[in-house]
Amino acid sequence: MLLRHTPQETIERKALTINPAKTCQPIGAMYAALGIHNCLPHSHGSQGCCSYHRSTLTRHFKEPAMASTSSFTEGSSVFGGQANLVEAINNIFTVYNPDVIAVHTTCLSETIGDDLTQMAQKAKDEGYVPAGKKVIYASTPSYVGSHVTGYANMVRGMVDLLAVSTTAKKLDQINVIPGFVEPSDMAEIKRIAELFGKKVIMYPDTSNVLNSPMTGKFKMYPKGGAKTEDIALSGDSKVTLALGRFATGIGAKLLDTKHKVPCELLDLPIGLAATDRYVEMLKKYSGQSVPESLMEERGQLVDMITDMHQYFYGKKVALAGDPDQLVALTEFLISIDMKPVHIVTGTPGNKFERRIKELTENLPYKVNYTVPSDLFTLHQWIKNESVDLIIGNTYTKYIARDEDIPSIRFGFPILDRVGHQYFPMAGYKGAMRLLEKILTCLLDKQDKDAPEEKFELVM
Ligand code: SF4
Repeated sequence: MLLRHTPQETIERKALTINPAKTCQPIGAMYAALGIHNCLPHSHGSQGCCSYHRSTLTRHFKEPAMASTSSFTEGSSVFGGQANLVEAINNIFTVYNPDVIAVHTTCLSETIGDDLTQMAQKAKDEGYVPAGKKVIYASTPSYVGSHVTGYANMVRGMVDLLAVSTTAKKLDQINVIPGFVEPSDMAEIKRIAELFGKKVIMYPDTSNVLNSPMTGKFKMYPKGGAKTEDIALSGDSKVTLALGRFATGIGAKLLDTKHKVPCELLDLPIGLAATDRYVEMLKKYSGQSVPESLMEERGQLVDMITDMHQYFYGKKVALAGDPDQLVALTEFLISIDMKPVHIVTGTPGNKFERRIKELTENLPYKVNYTVPSDLFTLHQWIKNESVDLIIGNTYTKYIARDEDIPSIRFGFPILDRVGHQYFPMAGYKGAMRLLEKILTCLLDKQDKDAPEEKFELVM
């Protein structure tokens, strides 16, 4: 009953967010940076920000998220953090020896107006960046955007400061930039791409970093992550497949303008149609036919949809999460005849509104979405039109409990469940897992509420 004061009546509210459907920019930047092998993310701001960002990642992935901080004091808060950052770069390379330091700003350093380009150059000029090592950076003020924006900005920083072009003739290799998805999804996205037999350069890649196995020994830098030499080579690839326009668009477009690598902006390959489009692009740019094994996975997914369609049909769903995930989810749910009637994201952007409009404008029922929005609004919408299922991050559990609606954890952050790190939702196999979760949720509720005479043994 934590949200029992949420009123049913909605009023226009612009200057106040209640229960945001997002987290802050640097969390996304930190997550993206952990997708580079031997990289230490560095938070340029106060210790409190860094602790919050690390703990959120650790709680979500159940893994240590390593990062350092400029540890602003009152002095640096007033006069700027240059001395702190230059000293930090020296200390980090001396003590922790990463290949890359990925610096992101925070609200405080952005408000002061710290110039990361100039500071990174100063550290280099003073000899604090050893030969072969790199400092990359991204501007991530948290009073705009969300963790998705922060992820996108750090991906852009990777392209800007690590990718190079060495040859006028493009190489027969494909770049893949995954959006803000789980390490398990990244592994699945890469597995699918590699089935086409070409060299695949994927970054960031947090698989085997934030879902690495327990070995009994602590490793500051786990074995996963994209290698810097591969990221450098991405400037020579013949195409970039950018999966999720919000999280990857600016990075992929920069690869195009700076290194003439054309990009295809695609939706996240979550669900049947979006995965089909990803596979189609891989087929086109690899020049190979779709492998038999992938066709079988697709066939199994179609079979599962066919078998279970009667349970999905007409069920109303409320969705909360990140734009790229919501676009893919909305399309998928509509394709199996479920009804996504309320859609909420905290990440601002007109593009999202346009895309959801495209997907839903011809439906015979009304779909609520305003951008950006919050979980308070979602709760009010649900009070006015109830749903059969809520799909969203951990914070949606309060609404689910208050309204007695089954819910599935999806998106970021998930603080009270496990599995997302290890089992993908992307690709055909991922879509099967998603369907299984939806079906289990709906049928558990049906079994729980069924009167004695309708309690069935067989589905
Ligand atoms: S919102 Fe700003 S001040 Fe708060 S934790 Fe994030 S970066 Fe730090």
